[in-house]
Amino acid sequence: MKTDPILPGATIGLLGGGQLGRMFALAARKMGYRVHTVDPTPDSPTGQISDREYCVPFSDIATLTEFARGVDVVTYEFENIPVEALDALAPRVPLRPGRDVLYTTQNRLREKQFLQGKGFPVAPFRVVQSEAELRAAVADLGCPCVLKTADFGYDGKGQQKIVYETDLAAVWKQHGAYTGVLEAWVPFAAELSVVVARGLVLVEDEERQTVAFPPTVNDHENHILATSVAPAPLADSILARAQSIGMAIAKELDVTGLLAVEFFLTKRGDLLVNELAPRPHNSGHYSFDACVTSQFEQQLRAVCGLPLGDVRLLSPVIMRNLLGDVWGNGTPDWSGLLALPGLRLHLYGKSEPRHGRKMGHYCVLAETVDKAREIDAAAQRLLRR
Ligand code: AMP
Repeated sequence: MKTDPILPGATIGLLGGGQLGRMFALAARKMGYRVHTVDPTPDSPTGQISDREYCVPFSDIATLTEFARGVDVVTYEFENIPVEALDALAPRVPLRPGRDVLYTTQNRLREKQFLQGKGFPVAPFRVVQSEAELRAAVADLGCPCVLKTADFGYDGKGQQKIVYETDLAAVWKQHGAYTGVLEAWVPFAAELSVVVARGLVLVEDEERQTVAFPPTVNDHENHILATSVAPAPLADSILARAQSIGMAIAKELDVTGLLAVEFFLTKRGDLLVNELAPRPHNSGHYSFDACVTSQFEQQLRAVCGLPLGDVRLLSPVIMRNLLGDVWGNGTPDWSGLLALPGLRLHLYGKSEPRHGRKMGHYCVLAETVDKAREIDAAAQRLLRR
C-alpha cells in the first residue's frame, strides 16, 4: 500500500475542541497546516486557534458533510463521538484513526473483549446487566472490585468501588446504566502508560512504521491524573514490555495515528492493560516540552502519512495537571510559578475554573527526576497559598 502524504499547506479536520485538539492544532499550525474544528461549544480551546470552527453537535450530518469538503484528512481528539458521524465522514475524506478503532475503544466492554480476544493481559472482568448478575459477578470475582459503565466513562466517571458484598442493590441503582463491566480490583505497584504512533510509511518487511514514546509513571488523585513522570523509575525490562504490548495493540487495532495504553503494574511485576485511547493522552503531555517530537506532532505526522518523528526524551520531566480547584483563592500566582527554574506553563484558554476541570498543566524539566520533583513541590506550595 502506498499512500501519498498530506503535506504542509493542507487542511486538517479535527473532531472535538478540547485541550488535546488545541495542542494538536498548535503542532499542525507550526508546520504550516490549516485546522478546521468541530465542537458543539463556541470558543472551545481548539476553536480559539483554528482557522475555522464549526459549532454544531456531532449529530448535524449536513454540517459535517460541509466540513468534510473543506479538509484533506479528519482526526479526533476524544472518543465520545457518535459512530453515525464517522459513518457520514468516512466515504468522503480519510478518517484516521479509522471508524472501527473508535467504535472499539469508545466502549469499555468492546475494548476489554477485543483485548482479551487477542490475548492481551487485562484484569479479570464480568459483564453485568442486572442486579442479579452483579451479585453473581461479585461472588465470582470477590471484593474489592469496581463496577464501571460500559459507555462514555473517563477520569473515573461512572465508577463505583465495591469493598463489601453488602448493599449491591444500592450500587446497582446508582449505576443507572444498562450495561456494566465489573472488574477485579488490582492492588497495583504502579500505574504507567505509553503513547504509541503508527504511521503509513512502510519500513522493513512491509510493516508500517510504529514508534512508542518513553512510558510514564502516573499518579491519580480522585481518579483524575495528577502527575506523570519520565523517565519512569521502573526496570527497563518493564518499560520495554509496555512499549512492545502498546505497539502490538496498535497493529491489531489497525491504528493510523496515536494509541495511548494505560497499564497497571502488579506487585508480581505483570502488566495489565487498563484502558486504551486512540488519540493524544494527558500522560503524554510531557512530550510537548521534553521530547524531540511531541505526541501532537506525531499524531499529525501519522495521520498525514509522513515519517514519524524521533521520540527521544531530552530531559527528566514531571508533568502536573492544573485543575479548576487551583483557582480556589483567585487567579493563581503565575509570576511566582514562572520564576521557578525549568517550569513550562500550558493553559488551555478555558474561562470557567470548575472543580476537577482540567484547565492547564505544567512541566518541570530538570537534571534528575528528584530535582524536578523538588521544583514541583515548590510550585505546589505557591499554588496552595
Ligand atoms: P479508568 O477510568 O478505568 O482508567 O480508572 C481511573 C483510575 O481508577 C485508574 O487510573 C486507577 O487509578 C483506578 N482504577 C480503575 N480501575 C481499577 C482497578 N480495577 N483496580 C485498581 N484501580 C483501578
